[in-house]
Amino acid sequence: MGEAVIPSVLTTPQPTAAFGQSGVSIWVRCHDAAVAPVGGVDYPRSYAEFRSWFSDDDACLDYLDWLRWREAWRCPACGAGLGWPLSNGRRECSSCGRQTSTTARTIFHRTRTPLTVWFAAAWHMTSQKQGISALGLQRVLGLGSYQTAWAMLHRFRVAMVRPGRERLSGRVEVDESYVGGNEEGATGRETETKARVAIAVEFDEPKGIGRIRLQHVLDVSGASLIPFVQAAVEPGSTVRTDGWQAYWTLSEHGYVHDRVVMRRGKDPAHVVLPNVHLVASLLKRWLLGTHQGAVQVTHLQAYLNEFTFRFNRRRSRARGLLFYRLLEQAAVAEPITYRQLLVTPGAKRRRYAAPPGERRNPSTWPYRPPSDRGVAQPDPDGYPTLSERGREIVALRWRRRGCIWVNPEGVPKSTIAVDSGAVHRQRLGIDGPSGAAACRPFR
Ligand SMILES: [Zn+2]
Repeated sequence: MGEAVIPSVLTTPQPTAAFGQSGVSIWVRCHDAAVAPVGGVDYPRSYAEFRSWFSDDDACLDYLDWLRWREAWRCPACGAGLGWPLSNGRRECSSCGRQTSTTARTIFHRTRTPLTVWFAAAWHMTSQKQGISALGLQRVLGLGSYQTAWAMLHRFRVAMVRPGRERLSGRVEVDESYVGGNEEGATGRETETKARVAIAVEFDEPKGIGRIRLQHVLDVSGASLIPFVQAAVEPGSTVRTDGWQAYWTLSEHGYVHDRVVMRRGKDPAHVVLPNVHLVASLLKRWLLGTHQGAVQVTHLQAYLNEFTFRFNRRRSRARGLLFYRLLEQAAVAEPITYRQLLVTPGAKRRRYAAPPGERRNPSTWPYRPPSDRGVAQPDPDGYPTLSERGREIVALRWRRRGCIWVNPEGVPKSTIAVDSGAVHRQRLGIDGPSGAAACRPFR
């Protein structure tokens, strides 16, 4: 489904809710996260813009930080909503004392690949309509290792499934298709070597195709297909299938079952279920084209996830918006290890899952915390700063990275400083532990 790009004039700065559990009101964003992201403000519109926005790891980290904690910072370990930025770029939780980085517990968890390389991979993955293969990515980024490119793409594929995404609704076509080599002598649903893919396609009324869901299923029994329908389609929707017996119990699961019985030789499936068969042929073409048919069965679901992500955003005119969506989901996706990527539950033949060779990392650029962190800024309201009193000051500086920040009074500004004095604690509404640590604000 295409996402409308709302002109920037419509996203009037509206101070949104402050964050924090204890009434902390420190930063306010100029527009609501629910408002459609704006090209050139929230995401880069072109490669030139991408290059200028994400020239180093700090800029990437800053963007991820914004994407991940846009509404409220939460300690990834204990869930507390109050923490303090540290000079090393991490945040310390006020509740459990754990220090965490922006990339902790995301797909970038403990990555040794520079974030600039990750971002470039995300850009190349989304800027082309057909995506990119691991080999293509390795070449275009000049990576020393195929495995690095492969693992990055696979981690992004994990992030392409948004947790809690809405199920399809309205009228939905459901059928299975088979991907893999030709199998001689097999007819209908009999197959031994091909992978089975369950497909659900939503009607976009009055005509056309809406969203899709794809799942690799081990067989075409009701035990495999009914859970797929339940996960993909909202109960109460009309589900159109062929006469296959696995679907007979659909009406018992709260669906309106529109069963179209095909007679052998008449009404071929692409007439009865045209949308499913269109999606299936596009899927096969994509697997053969972009990935040269080299997709292993154990990793098929990851490719299905990518195809779904692309297909459901096919009407999006701004490719940068896909980049934004991908990173937005990557910033909240659970981390996954290389071993987890290789071994998929249900894999029958482990030799398919073996790594394609030695693993090597590209040359890593040393991580530097942003140079402007910890730099004292004069207090805009004339409050005496700690530096003026010869003590430590932790400055608060909001950089304009794709959006405008405003201070708690609603005044747009790029810099603001506070100190640890009681006046400022009171002003900021912080009622945490006393002392200097209590007053270090969020960046
Ligand atoms: Zn914590």
